[in-house]
Amino acid sequence: MRVVMIFAAALLLSGSLWLLAVRLSSSALRGLGWLSGAAALSGGSLLLAAYYGTLPLMFSVVLASELRLLANVLIELSLIELLENEARVPKLNLAVVAISMLALPFVTYEHNDYRARVILISAMMMLQVGRNAQLLWTRRKKHLRHAIRFTFAGMCSFALLEGAKIIIVVRYWIPRSPLMGNWYQNITIFLYLLSFLWALAGFFWLTTLQLTTKLENMAGTDPLTRLANRRVFREWMQRELLRSLRTSVPFSLLVVDLDHFKRVNDTMGHNAGDEVIRICVERMQDSVRGIDVLARWGGEEFVALLPRASVDAAELVGERIRRNIEEPIKLRIRGEDKVLRITVSLGVTSYRGGEDTIEDMFDRADRALYEAKAAGRNCILTAA
Ligand code: GH3
Ligand code: MG
Ligand code: MG
Repeated sequence: MRVVMIFAAALLLSGSLWLLAVRLSSSALRGLGWLSGAAALSGGSLLLAAYYGTLPLMFSVVLASELRLLANVLIELSLIELLENEARVPKLNLAVVAISMLALPFVTYEHNDYRARVILISAMMMLQVGRNAQLLWTRRKKHLRHAIRFTFAGMCSFALLEGAKIIIVVRYWIPRSPLMGNWYQNITIFLYLLSFLWALAGFFWLTTLQLTTKLENMAGTDPLTRLANRRVFREWMQRELLRSLRTSVPFSLLVVDLDHFKRVNDTMGHNAGDEVIRICVERMQDSVRGIDVLARWGGEEFVALLPRASVDAAELVGERIRRNIEEPIKLRIRGEDKVLRITVSLGVTSYRGGEDTIEDMFDRADRALYEAKAAGRNCILTAA
């Protein structure tokens, strides 16, 4: 029995080292550092428990159990790092550790009662694992849902395992020593390892999914304005075109270009230019309808997709953008308050159905924009 336990402990400890190596190789893999700690504590706990009878109870029982409970605290920290935006103290799980530190020596030294110990530790484990499972369930995000269900199921079965242990010990059978090497012990160790591997797989799934989603978002977002970029916008347009073909409801495209923006950079500096771009984007966002989507086409040029908008409706939205942006902009540059006026020129076009394509629409809107620039800027023109 001892050999099996030492073998399992070695498995946990090497798993911990492996997790640590993976975590150190990339800081973007969230949660794995704490998980590595949890695996190390579990492995250490198992190793101590394997020497029950040889080591004093202080180590083989009290310390071994506390390490397992602490491992659950680290698992909660791992979940927090993985699923929440801010760090926070895992209060409930720490409280469980504190309570067990008082109660465990009592059932070990005052009454060396194996049954009471199993009940106490299993109940504490159930509480902690239940708390972690609840965290996982309530913080679930749509893109992680399969990985979360998988990990949640693993945690629940682990908690049930602890519950079953309590029932077995209370109702049916009381082992005298945890090292008797019978079916009960073997199954317990086996199930522990299985649930550890289950949780490990679940966490790995979660953290890689989280990372790929983040990378995908980054690849489609402009860092300065947080707007979607050209690639994503094209996909939206394509989708809207298919819908329009199906429903025969038109949609419109607006192209917006800041006027004489080079001058802003030249006179006020690039940083102020960036700030002005951000302010203009805010004003654009305030001017469009809830269902419209804005994107940064490049530089100081923006595009808006207006679903279910005829040319007339799109002109109204465009005019609102134009008016909102020409309002004075207050800026603080190198300690000085400045007031700035920015204007935009816009080109509008609508989907014409039939053979009309996204590229045709961009061409028309661009031409209209070019004409608006030629017509003196700060105006909106519609493609003929
Ligand atoms: P027009 O009215 O004809 O559009 O004149 P313009 O000066 O706006 O047009 P032009 O295309 O000549 O210059 C665009 C300028 O926008 C040049 C570039 O430095 C500036 N710009 C583009 N992207 C950014 C950015 O992200 N930040 C800052 N600060 N400036 C940018
Ligand atoms: Mg410009
Ligand atoms: Mg431009």
